[in-house]
Amino acid sequence: MLFSLPLVAHAQESRWVIEDKRGSIEVYAEFDPGIQDLWKHVDDVARELKVLVAVEPTDKPIQIILFRDQGSYLRYLASSVPQSRQRRAIFYRNGDVYQVFAFRSRTLTMDLRHEVTHAILHQHLPFLPLWIDEGLAEYLEEPEAQRSDSSRTKSARWRARMGWVPSLQSLENIPNAESMNTDEYRDSWAMTCLLLNESDASRQALCDYLAVIHRGEAPGPFSQTQAAADSGVLSRANSYFRKMPIRLDLGSSD
Ligand SMILES: [Zn+2]
Repeated sequence: MLFSLPLVAHAQESRWVIEDKRGSIEVYAEFDPGIQDLWKHVDDVARELKVLVAVEPTDKPIQIILFRDQGSYLRYLASSVPQSRQRRAIFYRNGDVYQVFAFRSRTLTMDLRHEVTHAILHQHLPFLPLWIDEGLAEYLEEPEAQRSDSSRTKSARWRARMGWVPSLQSLENIPNAESMNTDEYRDSWAMTCLLLNESDASRQALCDYLAVIHRGEAPGPFSQTQAAADSGVLSRANSYFRKMPIRLDLGSSD
């Protein structure tokens, strides 16, 4: 998500127990988050974005800023970024600095992977449809090895057997992130699973679509593209979701 208010992480302040940097990615944390594990998850997300959809970070800085608890997170953010009050973590574009804010909790790893996905997507692309932005973030927030058996995957298989398919046209009409509900997050994730995993043609259609945006052109709605039509993927959606295979060809993240 993009916000216009300026915000600065003061690296020189002593509040940070951990400060670390790899390439253009910096970490500031008020507690020890397990830095090796953190870098492994960041690397996983970056590697998968490159392999799956040819999206790569630029050399502009990404700052990952982690707070010891929700109170500290809100004291730092709430007045500048009111949306933080409703969210466990947030991606914030601060000019040329791409910032990820989160706090220590049971879901920190997932939150971090989700928001780092947004940061890299927004570095690579001048804009992108909300359902792809959230769909990829939801897809990559789960480590690869957990995706096939996660509760959301099992739930989607069950729903598909009752006839469910997500509506791409509805997802394309979501006006803004604030209005997205739980079902729309789920359907964005499901549509992304479908495109990434159904066939080589379906994944290529998504890659090609993002490549057009990367070049600065406006491709129109994905559902209207020739590549989507040629792949035939949308007509096979329900049969995909009944089994919902997830590719595991990128190496384990353990
Ligand atoms: Zn998100």
